[in-house]
This record gives sequence, structure tokens and C-alpha cells, in this order.
Amino acid sequence: MEILLKERQENGKMGNNIVYTYGGGLYINMTNRCTNKCEFCVRQMTDGLGGADSLWLDREPEVSEVIEALKAFRAEDYEEIIFCGYGEPAMRLDDVLEVARYLKEHTDTKVRINTNGLADLIYGKRTAPMLEGVIDRVSISLNEADAEAYDALCHPTFGKESYDAILTYIRDVKQYVEDVAVSVVSCIPKDAVERCGKIAEDLDVKFKVR
Ligand code: SF4
Repeated sequence: MEILLKERQENGKMGNNIVYTYGGGLYINMTNRCTNKCEFCVRQMTDGLGGADSLWLDREPEVSEVIEALKAFRAEDYEEIIFCGYGEPAMRLDDVLEVARYLKEHTDTKVRINTNGLADLIYGKRTAPMLEGVIDRVSISLNEADAEAYDALCHPTFGKESYDAILTYIRDVKQYVEDVAVSVVSCIPKDAVERCGKIAEDLDVKFKVR
């Protein structure tokens, strides 16, 4: 079943900053909260991306509001639907998965979550099993090749234990989601990119430089 096209809602409710287009993807922005303060974060450089003038939310939308915003788009017109936006989607993991379940029921378009891989530390438990059958693809930002460098670049709330937690999360999520990728930003040193590529290879996941 497809998500029906209807006119954009521009009647003073929440605007196009909940669901927006970027490249060939349809993106969902559910939170501006994050555990990290990455030095390269795009949020520090621009307010908006793609079809959204601003991705800063006045407040976090309810699940029903996210679904309502999705109805303004034909999911089948997009290569993927991606939970991303100006914040870490895992900060609202239960709500993200509720929206993802709605998508699973209404479209065959693949659903991806872009994450910093710190959900297990956020919730104090293994979270990868929660993604099974709901999320098709996971892209995890690794961004550095060791714990020290990651801490210095991304300034995670959880400190240096974050890096090992990300590696554990990658190994874990592979058991529940078929398509797993690790990504790095292109601004890190070349040798760090290469070392991250080797880590991805050893973990048997895809590798992307973004
Ligand atoms: S994890 Fe993502 S949203 Fe959070 S600070 Fe880093 S780049 Fe920005």
C-alpha cells in the first residue's frame, strides 16, 4: 500500500522540518537532542538541508504528527526513508520504531536509521534486538579509528567508553538487521579513514565516507 499524496500542510501546524527530502531520500527529523557534540556537525553550519529551510524543532513532534507529515509524500517516490535530521534518532527510539512500524505497514520503501551507535549507553541495555523486522538498514557513524580520537572529535556525553560501545553495537545490530554500514566524515585524516575502513571490513559491514 502506498502512502497517499496530499497537499503539504502549511496551515500553521508544524512545517516541513519533520519530514523533508534530501537527495533521493525522504528524511524524518524527530529530535534535536543528541549525546554528542561533534566538531563537524552540520547543525553548526546551516539551519536547514534539502527541502527543509530549518531543521530546528520548536518541540519534538508526537508520533501522530510525524505520521501526518509523512502523508504529504509518496513513499514510493523515494529510494529510502531515513530517520536522521538534526539530532540523534535513538534519543526517541520507541517513537522512531512506532513510526517505522507504520511505514512497514504502508510502503515497501526501505527504512534506514542513521545513528551514532550509542543507544545501548543511552538506555543501559542492548537495543539492537528492537530493530528486528522494523528497520531495514542501519548506518552507524564511527568517524574515528580509536576511542581517544573519537572522544576528542565527537565529545560524547559518555566519554571514552563510547567507542567500544559503538563497536559492540555494530556487532550486535548485524544479528538483527541485514544491511549495516559504518560511515566516517571525509574531514578526518586519510589514515583514520583507512583504519576505519579496515575496522568495517573486519566487522563485515559496508563502509561509507560521507
Ligand atoms: S552525532 Fe550527529 S547530530 Fe549528534 S552532534 Fe554528532 S553529527 Fe551532530
